[in-house]
Amino acid sequence: EKFKDGLTKTRDNFSGKVNDLVARYRKVDEDFFEELEEILIGADVGFDTVMELIDELKMEVKRKNIQDPAAVQAVISEKLVDIYKGDEEEEVNTINIQDGLTVILFVGVNGVGKTTTIGKLAHKYKSEGKKVLLAAGDTFRAGAIEQLEVWGDRVGVEVIKQSAGSDPAAVMYDAVQAAKSRNADILLCDTAGRLQNKVNLMKELEKVKRVIEREIPGAPHEVLLVLDATTGQNAMVQAKTFKEATDVSGIVLTKLDGTAKGGIVLAIRNELKIPVKFVGLGEKMDDLQQFDAEQYVYGLFA
Ligand code: GDP
Repeated sequence: EKFKDGLTKTRDNFSGKVNDLVARYRKVDEDFFEELEEILIGADVGFDTVMELIDELKMEVKRKNIQDPAAVQAVISEKLVDIYKGDEEEEVNTINIQDGLTVILFVGVNGVGKTTTIGKLAHKYKSEGKKVLLAAGDTFRAGAIEQLEVWGDRVGVEVIKQSAGSDPAAVMYDAVQAAKSRNADILLCDTAGRLQNKVNLMKELEKVKRVIEREIPGAPHEVLLVLDATTGQNAMVQAKTFKEATDVSGIVLTKLDGTAKGGIVLAIRNELKIPVKFVGLGEKMDDLQQFDAEQYVYGLFA
């Protein structure tokens, strides 16, 4: 239900236009596909992904000899799910939780909703009975540490921090030691979101990762890139940069509730081959959902 509510804007935009298209055409022809193409691009599905989808649709329409535009609608949903899943047998939307401590690193530029997402996930894991710690690794942005502490208080979990301007790798070292000595299950690590210089970003992330890895072999177990859905193709550019800078294991797409262009989910998955693991559907503590391609696609037309 929450998932459906969060998609209201995208649904109204996308399915409204598709319904209108279907109503205006008597049969499926080249013009029909051209208009559909525009609708999909307008929903930020991404050019390459749209082309792939349209090709698939045309083949399916031919194969099944579909004439009725209304009948194409069902095929669109089916193909969208296929494209999202790609070659994967199973959708990879889960977090790699360990028996002992699981370390999750969050990366992404400022303002995308990184702190909020960490807070929401802390709440989720705490509600599941897990012991959660937060690491205030963004020592660069003014207010970042305090903001994480606000979430720590709200959720009731401890925040490991140093003063502003200190070395993020030192904070991570402290956080890992604290997590070990308190027998924590989950350590959620914030990082700085500078992107002006890819080399610096890469160096800083590598240093932070090295400290964690040295203390806990195999960690960090997830590197989640947080992207703001309302920034559209900009989010794609950020994703490409971070993918080059570090091994991103999954994406959290925030503010899906605030955009009519939720098609970006498909573009990210199909063009960057990184799975979307969570979506943010609001500002509150429980406005985070595990991503599910079928729920998502069928939610667009529900
Ligand atoms: P950070 O700079 O990346 O840490 O971003 P913040 O966590 O401070 O979030 C920036 C703003 O986006 C805040 O006002 C959040 O409340 C808001 N925000 C974060 N996630 C969501 C979401 O899923 N939906 C909506 N509507 N707002 C969100």
